[in-house]
Amino acid sequence: MRLLRLSLQNFRNYVRLDEETPRGVLLLVGANAQGKTNLLEAIYYLATFASFRARHDRDLVHFDAPGWGCPAVGRIVAEFQREGELRPRRLEVRLIREPNGIGDTQCRRLRREVLVDGMKKKLTEAMGLFNAVLFLPRMTELVTAAPEGRRRYLNMVLSQVYPAYAQALTAYRQALTRRNALLKTLQEQGGDPAQLDYWDAELARWGAPLIAWRAEALAQWELLIRESHWHLTRNAETLRLSYHPSFHPLLEGSLQREAENNQVLTQVPVEQIAFAFHRALVRRREEAIARGTTTIGPHRDDFCFRNNKKALALYGSRGQMRTAVLALKMVEMQWMERRTGRKPVLLLDEILAELDAERRANLQAHIVQSEQVWLTTTDVEGFAPDFVRQSTVWRLDAGVVSPVSAGGDQS
Ligand code: ATP
Ligand code: MG
Repeated sequence: MRLLRLSLQNFRNYVRLDEETPRGVLLLVGANAQGKTNLLEAIYYLATFASFRARHDRDLVHFDAPGWGCPAVGRIVAEFQREGELRPRRLEVRLIREPNGIGDTQCRRLRREVLVDGMKKKLTEAMGLFNAVLFLPRMTELVTAAPEGRRRYLNMVLSQVYPAYAQALTAYRQALTRRNALLKTLQEQGGDPAQLDYWDAELARWGAPLIAWRAEALAQWELLIRESHWHLTRNAETLRLSYHPSFHPLLEGSLQREAENNQVLTQVPVEQIAFAFHRALVRRREEAIARGTTTIGPHRDDFCFRNNKKALALYGSRGQMRTAVLALKMVEMQWMERRTGRKPVLLLDEILAELDAERRANLQAHIVQSEQVWLTTTDVEGFAPDFVRQSTVWRLDAGVVSPVSAGGDQS
């Protein structure tokens, strides 16, 4: 997969950008706060329809856009070529900031439009068209941070590969918000718990496929990660990856026997997960009302790395954590390609600076196999001269791009 052209309008600090994008490695060079990460953020948005760092999508629209940012439209437009297709595709996202009722001079509401090949589409129809893998600085946070960060990561990766994942996630979140509101009311004012019937069913309906997809993906990553990790360390350390669903259907009631028979979660049909999850929600209603919140479900899931059987977050060194996350990222690339039949575009934000020479060489060997790689750096001197010669270099200054040199292989 390869981006052919990228246009931005009022996106972060880019008032206007319209550039053809080269094959191979593209180095984005610039001082701090010039818009390097913003550019990667725009591209990753096309893959996930979410920002990997903004708290709200309205923050993505240029705050000095005409009309002092209200109303204002931010735009990301990309043309890209997918493997095996004759024509390039065109994906456009419009981020429209508009007043949230009369008197809202700040334009707090954000409306989003997605166009595929010029036609307005639902988000779910555009999901999975464009794929990217993102490497961020401070990668070890994926191991050490709270579970929310790992869930966010899972959601970003899985929604690109399973097109219905994002839809299920949105529906699950909506049902969860409504159920939690009702639990609060029941806690404060009392009432018939049977009012929860509808939301329990909704939560089970949308939560079960999320559990099934997460279980499947993590089981496949677990198989791939050992090899990837071995390539990075060349020693006997074994890295394991495991899914920790907050609700595990095999550890519930009548299914316990199957768990004891070593049946793994990936073999449980999604209907059975939904059935067990629903029953568990109903059973735990009293506890949920007392707490005023839903205590089990995919919104509390986690996954964990183990190195030689020890939890990496508790016992790992920084180097071991860095290697583990790097191994996971390589697995992500490989897995995405296998599942979709297309190589994802790679986006690396300041990442090479964090790696020692050996890991850097290993990663570089991987990334040059990709059709397209975007790398940001404040210091081009940090790269080997040969690598820079073969790359296209763009200089970034306050949201303005100046192409500096074209890479060696532009065929
Ligand atoms: P670093 O090397 O420090 O990571 P960077 O080049 O990656 O820097 P970015 O994070 O891409 O920098 O861009 C930061 C700049 O973008 C800041 O100057 C910030 O004020 C600006 N910026 C962020 N959001 C908006 C917005 N909505 N409108 C206009 N400018 C914005
Ligand atoms: Mg940055």
